[in-house]
Amino acid sequence: MTHKNAGRPTEDSIKEEIASRVTRHQYLTWFDKLNFIFTGPNRVSVVVPNKFYHQYLKTRFLTLINEAVEAVTDLTHPEIEFTLAVDLVSAPRPNGSVKEPDDSEGVEPDRGADSGWRRRPWHPPELATIGARVPQPAGNGQLEFSAAIPRSIPLNPDYSFEHFIEGPCNRLALAACRAVVDQPGTSFNPLFIYGKVGLGKTHLLQAVGLGYAAAGLGRIVYLTCATFTNDFIAAVNANDLDRFRKKYREADCLLIDDIQFLAKKERTQEEFFHTFNSIYNQQKQILLTSDCLPSEIAGLSERLISRFKLGLVAQITAPCLETRTAIIRRKADKLGLRIETDVAEFIAQRIRDNVRELEGAVLRLHTLVTIENQPLSVESARTALVDLIGGEAKRVGLAEIQQAVLQEFDIRPAELHSRKRTRSIVVPRQVCMYLARMHTDLSLGEIGLFFGGRDHSTVLHAVEKIRVAVSSDPRIRNSLAAIEQHLAP
Ligand code: ADP
Ligand code: MG
Repeated sequence: MTHKNAGRPTEDSIKEEIASRVTRHQYLTWFDKLNFIFTGPNRVSVVVPNKFYHQYLKTRFLTLINEAVEAVTDLTHPEIEFTLAVDLVSAPRPNGSVKEPDDSEGVEPDRGADSGWRRRPWHPPELATIGARVPQPAGNGQLEFSAAIPRSIPLNPDYSFEHFIEGPCNRLALAACRAVVDQPGTSFNPLFIYGKVGLGKTHLLQAVGLGYAAAGLGRIVYLTCATFTNDFIAAVNANDLDRFRKKYREADCLLIDDIQFLAKKERTQEEFFHTFNSIYNQQKQILLTSDCLPSEIAGLSERLISRFKLGLVAQITAPCLETRTAIIRRKADKLGLRIETDVAEFIAQRIRDNVRELEGAVLRLHTLVTIENQPLSVESARTALVDLIGGEAKRVGLAEIQQAVLQEFDIRPAELHSRKRTRSIVVPRQVCMYLARMHTDLSLGEIGLFFGGRDHSTVLHAVEKIRVAVSSDPRIRNSLAAIEQHLAP
């Protein structure tokens, strides 16, 4: 299938070409969600939903993508680059009509874990005003990104309240977000949500935006702080502050992600202060997220700190074991992946402080099962996830596990290592073996040796016993959760 002569090739023609070269299953799994954007005379950007697509496509399908692009364009050896969908706002515009900012304020924020991504000059997107433009889920429930150069930050229907798992770690923030949807501008204004990366701040912010869109609220302005900054600089350069101010100050709600990016940007802070006041004084809702408290944002002016604290400051912390397990289950369900309790627990035990990584793990297991046709077990998961969990495995040792278990069950080391078979000793011993299996890469034999010279079948039996007990016995579940707290790095 070739579209060379069918006018300017579109992303769809690339996708069609790919569809003709792979199986339907491969297409639906790996290509259906992609967008292709022509970002230069000989360059095509592949917009992927997450890092795992990038890794997988790069290793398995780069040649195929190249060939498909060559087939539908006149390009030879096109340059293929990958862009994360969440980075869409940094995608270059075709005719860079806006002058580059000449100070440090116009630089794309450091994306931490994603810093391996290609960096490019920042071009401010259009104001992210949505409402009528909320992307609707396609028939198959998948997101449709706008096909051309994005002009607004799309709200992702996957980031709704419905898809957000509640736990003690996020209960307050979630309740507050629901409240501001029900009563904009009155209950908590501003609502300031902070927490470490990958804990659901952006998800909640978008859920609020989606809630407003569903309720038909007028001008919903949702954007990252970096976009605000860059839009401001562009307006200054273009001598067009009036238009800028009108756009922002007349919002019906202002949702700004990663407000910590205001750090040390005096001019932008000054402008934001007035934006804030204008919206606040009209009793319109302001919602901000940050990776730290207002007072911890470097060089944030005192008056902004006090503004940010006017409403409610809610923290999101790392999810507990139960919440992590629930998240894994939900994400697996969504992919149609059947995941047994032991595997879910195994991942939840190993990946503790980042929900994004939990998602990544589930996605990889999905690949394992659907593409590589492998059975899902703790063993196969351990291998498949080695680079996600490998480093952490070494952080917890047998002695540490033993210490935590002894403390929780209040028994002495000699008892643990003895031949005693009373339940009060057997259970802690089995818990030790179970945790050793979950947290270390040691063999069954090595674990048995450490905990009183048991053979590998005893360890296997112990692991199985606790695995079953985790789902049936709340006392064991609570004990494990408590021990886990001690083991947490
Ligand atoms: P942050 O903005 O805090 O860095 P995100 O909102 O981008 O984190 O969350 C990272 C990923 O984890 C997203 O895909 C999000 O949907 C998911 N996620 C985070 N918390 C939850 C939760 N409680 N329930 C379901 N998914 C979650
Ligand atoms: Mg975020």
